[in-house]
Amino acid sequence: MCISDLLSRLEKVKRTGRGRWLACCPAHEDHSPSLAIRELEDGRILIHCFAGCGVQEIVFAAGLELSDLFPPRVEGKHFAKRESSPFPAADILCAIAFEATLVLIAAADMLAGKPLNEFDRDRLAVAVGRIHSALKAGGIHLG
Ligand SMILES: [Zn+2]
Repeated sequence: MCISDLLSRLEKVKRTGRGRWLACCPAHEDHSPSLAIRELEDGRILIHCFAGCGVQEIVFAAGLELSDLFPPRVEGKHFAKRESSPFPAADILCAIAFEATLVLIAAADMLAGKPLNEFDRDRLAVAVGRIHSALKAGGIHLG
């Protein structure tokens, strides 16, 4: 997702510097902008509500998904450096738990003798990609 897609969904957006904005948080009754937005060099978007809203709540309130904050192509690419303020681990775990549930549903269908169709297979591949994106966003690199 492009940063302008996110900014267009928010109110009272104010640019505060290169790759930095403040806006009203969509996840709570926000009268003075308390949502900080950062666009990193590698395409990741970091958001933080100073009133304490979770990243997932904010993203859902804006009509987006957590994965929209990650650049579309992360396959084989390593992020330049660890951020001093990465996503909270709890938010990353929530995203992974959701994808893991999808995998469980697919496994249950297969056990029940329902073959996976092409759509299901594609969605499972997306789930794997999202889990890897979440790990990378958390600064975790496998092998
Ligand atoms: Zn908030």
